[in-house]
Amino acid sequence: MVRTQNIPPNSEHEEFGPGKKGYILCPEGKEVYFKKSWHPNLESLPELNAAHNWGEPRSGAEREEKSVKFELCPAHQMLKDKQYEGEVIVENLNEANREELTNLIKNRGEEAERRDTLHRILKIEQQPKGIRVETSENQLAQKIGKAIGSHYKKADLKIQPGSGTSDVGRVRIILP
Ligand SMILES: [Zn+2]
Repeated sequence: MVRTQNIPPNSEHEEFGPGKKGYILCPEGKEVYFKKSWHPNLESLPELNAAHNWGEPRSGAEREEKSVKFELCPAHQMLKDKQYEGEVIVENLNEANREELTNLIKNRGEEAERRDTLHRILKIEQQPKGIRVETSENQLAQKIGKAIGSHYKKADLKIQPGSGTSDVGRVRIILP
């Protein structure tokens, strides 16, 4: 008869280790790394927010020691290093559409960021006849490109997903 042992996988094991109590705050934004992922802010982590000692000493069971570290979150690290994973280039832009298009781009960025705090627009560059966008993640560049494509039906949309030589996914849109 074969005996099977119930050994928890490493990841599960770590949950009970010292990692559970510590968290990281991004000095550039409000992002918090806790339990193996980044969250938008402390307010989104009631468990951590309540345990945080905001200058007022708590006593008894309410007080929980947690170690805190300050480290840039991956999105702010990319900004600092001037890196990006997705790029959207809009060309042949008519001035009359600039504001509308910029808002459309921003909305897509905010939507993505609400789903995952690290998926965001890093930079929007207004150019003479166009707009250039850098994103922290290449799927977001495609989403923005497709949204522009469905808004301007006759736009010429070219999607170049990141390949082996370059991880940056690019979308080029030439407006009609
Ligand atoms: Zn950050």
